Amino acid sequence: MRIFEVAAKNTAVRGFVYMKKLSVIVPCYNEQENISDFYTELMKNGQYFKDRDVEIEVYFINDGSKDETVLRVKELAATDQRVHLISFSRNFGKEAAIYAGLSSAKGDYVVIMDCDLQDPPALLPKLYEAITVEGYDSAATRRVDRKGEPPIRSFFARCFYKLINRISSAEIVDGARDYRMMTRQFVDAVLSVKEYNRFSKGIFGWVGFDTKWIEFENVERMKGETKWSFWKLMIYALDGIVAFSEAPMAIASIMGLFFCLAAFLGIIFTIVRKTLYGDPTGGWPSLVCIILLVAGVQLFCIGIVGQYLSKTYLEVKRRPMYIVKEEI
Ligand code: UDP
Ligand code: MG
Repeated sequence: MRIFEVAAKNTAVRGFVYMKKLSVIVPCYNEQENISDFYTELMKNGQYFKDRDVEIEVYFINDGSKDETVLRVKELAATDQRVHLISFSRNFGKEAAIYAGLSSAKGDYVVIMDCDLQDPPALLPKLYEAITVEGYDSAATRRVDRKGEPPIRSFFARCFYKLINRISSAEIVDGARDYRMMTRQFVDAVLSVKEYNRFSKGIFGWVGFDTKWIEFENVERMKGETKWSFWKLMIYALDGIVAFSEAPMAIASIMGLFFCLAAFLGIIFTIVRKTLYGDPTGGWPSLVCIILLVAGVQLFCIGIVGQYLSKTYLEVKRRPMYIVKEEI
């Protein structure tokens, strides 16, 4: 009996200890300079997770890079079987890359990270503890400052977060990054949201559960350039608003009503004035201004409706979110 116990303890049947899995999802678009540095930094956490019987696996999602990103990942995959590659047939955007990663990852825990080391891998133990020790369903990060970012970009970003939190019921945190660790249950919930126009920051808030926010100071991109131009960010912000709020359409209706009322009052005023003083041509310039204003408002409102219509159009077409060209 005793011998059996000792033998069982010695072998600790390490192979039979249930190793949990942590899947790391890394969207990459033209990141050839960063792949190997990212991998090195990430694997510095290897021992920490090994001690806790957690195995790391990495999914590099190549979002149609035109440089040697794929080659760099393949080199890594040849030496380390924990490295996986999913390569898109063209650039489908970071949101598609995140969705592809979440769909492929098998881990008990899943974390999304940028490739440029702006999401410090050194925070991983903190995220892991928030979930496993403190019992949260997800641990998310937000940067407390925007050091190194152009002031105009920061200004518009702040305005966007203020606006969207006013007009949307989903909690969208200012400075939130996509760097977030999730439990399997949380990931499945995110995957069950099948919409084509994805705005992950909103979806993460929308699915609910308990999230711990971990703050850190902004880190500047290590190498290469940001892939988000000002316009790309503007369009992304608009997508976010359309995806998570119907307020613009309500504003359009209210504005329409307001102008109807103003016109009605104007008509009464004109009839009364004409009857009392008789001045048929007076006010011609102001009339032109009013016509222009109202036409502008109408076009603006049609534009808002058009935004929702175009999103609906894309949604009902049910095109795949991405096309995979190669998988390792
Ligand atoms: N990215 C992507 N597809 C894109 C644009 C960006 O997969 O179309 C990836 C990029 O490689 C990086 C992450 O998304 O790993 C964040 O991009 P970036 O660092 O350029 O954004 P920023 O940090 O400046 O907001
Ligand atoms: Mg970055």
